[in-house]
Amino acid sequence: MNPDCSLPAALVPSPNHGVRKGGRRADSILLHYTGLPDGKAALRQLCDPATEVSAHYLVFEDGSVAQLVPESRRAWHAGKGMWAGESDMNDVSIGIEIANAGHRGGLPEYPLAQIETVIALCRDIIGRWRIRPERVLAHSDVSHGRKIDPGEHFPWWRLAKAGIGLYVPPAAIEDGPRLEPGASGPEVLELQTLLSGYGYALETTGLYDARTESSINAFQRHYRQLRVDGIADRSTIATLRRLIAALGKG
Ligand SMILES: [Zn+2]
Repeated sequence: MNPDCSLPAALVPSPNHGVRKGGRRADSILLHYTGLPDGKAALRQLCDPATEVSAHYLVFEDGSVAQLVPESRRAWHAGKGMWAGESDMNDVSIGIEIANAGHRGGLPEYPLAQIETVIALCRDIIGRWRIRPERVLAHSDVSHGRKIDPGEHFPWWRLAKAGIGLYVPPAAIEDGPRLEPGASGPEVLELQTLLSGYGYALETTGLYDARTESSINAFQRHYRQLRVDGIADRSTIATLRRLIAALGKG
């Protein structure tokens, strides 16, 4: 087997994969952090049949990359989650694990060499599978409330500068009215409708419930990283509106 990508990827086959159900094809990229002390430990875990987890690619701290699962196959990286009505993200995504110790490891910065490889890999995959910019997502976007990777230090803006993903400059944080957990009414309903329209899985009830809070957390972690608190302040809502306005123009 040769790597599917044009990067010099090492081939380290993982047994943890299956068939994309119903002949589905990849239309999304999901980015993850490994949450382990180093890339070597992650590689062992992603190739161990007992763990039943994998990803198509693992990007190491130094920018080297390994392919573990062919892109045509269903790797097991997303778990339970949902995006834009799609309830099995493993069937329709390509998963990239990025070696990083994660929140439990103090959320270390991602080295530039590593991010440059993530960018090159995404560009390669996007070109071959015709993936739309808004479908380059965080694990935390599709599994909000359960997953927080690749975290609020992940430089989505750097990917955007290289033409990867949909991203808008976040609106400045300022004082003013805000929607918080427990709030209810038409403004909450409108917020939920915007979030759900963009792809986040939540009920549009008009009540700022736990799912609304966790989707705002996920949104902030990706698009308004300066403050991740689950509160829909003016900056968060303005950034969400800007992002939706940018759909289809990316
Ligand atoms: Zn993940």
